Amino acid sequence: MVSRVVYGRGSFNQLPEIVESKRVNTKAPFIYLVDEVFKGNSWLTSRIPLSYNDEIIYISANEEPKTSQVDELVEQIILSHQDKPSGIIGIGGGTLLDLSKAVSIMLTNEGEAKDYQGWDLVKNPAVYHVGIPTISGTGAEVSRTTVLTGPEKKLGINSDYTPFDQVILDPDLTKDVPKQQWFYTGMDCYIHCIESLQGTYLNAFSKSYGEKALELCKNVFLDTSFSEEEKQEQLMMASWHGGMSIAYSQVGVAHAMSYGLSFLLGVKHGVGNCIVFDHLEEFYPEGVALFKEMKQLNNIQLPKNICANLTDEEYDIMIKVALSLKPLWENALGKKWDQIMTPKKLKSLYQLM
Ligand code: NAD
Ligand code: ZN
Repeated sequence: MVSRVVYGRGSFNQLPEIVESKRVNTKAPFIYLVDEVFKGNSWLTSRIPLSYNDEIIYISANEEPKTSQVDELVEQIILSHQDKPSGIIGIGGGTLLDLSKAVSIMLTNEGEAKDYQGWDLVKNPAVYHVGIPTISGTGAEVSRTTVLTGPEKKLGINSDYTPFDQVILDPDLTKDVPKQQWFYTGMDCYIHCIESLQGTYLNAFSKSYGEKALELCKNVFLDTSFSEEEKQEQLMMASWHGGMSIAYSQVGVAHAMSYGLSFLLGVKHGVGNCIVFDHLEEFYPEGVALFKEMKQLNNIQLPKNICANLTDEEYDIMIKVALSLKPLWENALGKKWDQIMTPKKLKSLYQLM
């Protein structure tokens, strides 16, 4: 679990006092990995405390994190500083948060990031790392994984060293998120709740977090009586609780299929989950009905026919990636999942999208 967290509007201003006590020495910098969308945004960047050799690296979130990108960043950081960083601070959405977690791990572990995709393969504790979300939904701020696309698979580095040492939850930072993206990333949280609460791995720990997150999602996406500020606050906490819920259970059908879309077509996680979930009535009847209501109420149009022109070989690649995620299928459909979700069945679902 994340060992330290501060919450509240304006809590981002606590960043200097939080990090300074963690500085190893003046040659060991803090490296800020910041979403490029904030470049030139002095409202945010002027509050990033830079001293000695501290550095901001702006990174685009247009593409999801890759193992090769993590390896390049680690090399860049090592080559441009005398000492190993005192800390890595990620500011942005799931993309930047996951990159920050992965970079902090790879600064203290040999080899390449792809070698650590899986469960509990990381040997050494990561460099001190701080996560500051600027969009709510993924739960990446609280989770035990950093999802990376590698040469062969899209899979997380799941380990006890992955969670942030410190998180700053400041709902103010989410105020300029574009509406579509707000919905897509928010729905990631909603889908985490449904997949966790309806899964066979469910237990009292996950259920308690999942139910709270679901209640908050309903407030944000279905109840028009809340103000924008209240919605920002509630979605930030929904994301946190949704992430906690899947920490002790798993996601399900939508995530497995969305990983396939992402691997082959580069479809981003939030929108990919929405595209898939829209067609999963068979598995999550109530969840999908509510999703359609949220979509309508918030006036969201999803991309259509993204699989229309795929070749059989391309379908096979997506199917292989999706079916390789065994824990997700077992959580969703039980131990005999492979009798239900055959490659043929999966293809027929993808063909609807
Ligand atoms: P994102 O980080 O890719 O950001 C989405 C878009 O919103 C980007 O264009 C970004 O620039 C913009 N944005 C972010 N904050 C903004 C702000 N305050 N104002 C204006 N624009 C802003 O999106 P995401 O949905 O948060 O993250 C998706 C990633 O998270 C995927 O790579 C996915 O694999 C990963 N993920 C990780 C976990 C985990 O547990 N580690 C869980 C779910 C998803
Ligand atoms: Zn997700």
